Amino acid sequence: MGAEGGSERFSVILATRNRGKALEFSRLLGEAFSVEALPPDVEMPKESGKTFAENARLKAEGVFEALGGQFAALADDSGLEVAALDGKPGVQSARYAGEGATDGDNVSKLLAEMAAAEDRSARFVCSLCLVLPFADAGAPECGDYGDRVIIEASATVKGVIEQAPRGTRGFGYDPVFRPEEWTETLGEASIDQKDLVSHRGAAARALLQRMRTEGWLPGGS
Ligand code: IMP
Repeated sequence: MGAEGGSERFSVILATRNRGKALEFSRLLGEAFSVEALPPDVEMPKESGKTFAENARLKAEGVFEALGGQFAALADDSGLEVAALDGKPGVQSARYAGEGATDGDNVSKLLAEMAAAEDRSARFVCSLCLVLPFADAGAPECGDYGDRVIIEASATVKGVIEQAPRGTRGFGYDPVFRPEEWTETLGEASIDQKDLVSHRGAAARALLQRMRTEGWLPGGS
C-alpha cells in the first residue's frame, strides 16, 4: 500500500500533470504524505462526472487502475458554484467560457452573467478521493472494494463574487471571490492566508482527519 515501510508515510500519485498542484497538496497534506505528479506515460482520466465528488473518484480510480493497482492514487476536483447562476459554473469552472478559455475569459463571462444579480453569494468546492491498494481491507467505514480502499472528503468555502477583479495573486476566480467576513479577495491574499480558508486546505484537513479516525494515520481515537 502507500505507506512506506511502516513509517506511516503515504506515498501517493496525484492525478494531475500540474507540478504546482502536486506541490500544493504536498504542503496541505504535510509530513504524512509524499505526493508525486502523474508520470508522463500515464493517461489522465476524463472528467466526465456531474459532480466534483464523481470526478475526483473517476480520476483517482482511473490512475489507480492505470498504475496496475499497485500505488496509492489521489485526485481532486474543484470549482466555483454561484447561487444566482443555479450552481454554475460548477464542474465546468475551468472551461466556463469554452474549451481553452483563459482565467480572464472565465471571469469576464461570470461577471457578465452576474451583471444584474443581487444575490452575489458563491462557494468554492473541493472533493478529494484517495484510493489505497489493499486486499481484504477490513476497514468498512472507508469503503472496502476488495483490492482497494476508497477514502473521500469534500469541503467548501463560502463567499461573494465582487463586481470587478481585485488582486493579481492566485488563479482562476480568485480575483473576484471574497471569502465571507474578509475584506480582500483571494486574489489579494498571500498563499498562507488562502491555505487557511481554502476549500482545498479544508478538504485536505478533512481527509487527514478521516484517515486518523479510520486508523490509517496515528492520532485517531
Ligand atoms: P481544478 O479542478 O482544481 O483544476 O479546478 C477547476 C477550475 O475551478 C479552475 O480552473 C478554476 O477556474 C476553478 N478553481 C478551482 N479552485 C480554485 C481556487 O482556489 N481559486 C480560483 N479558482 C479555482
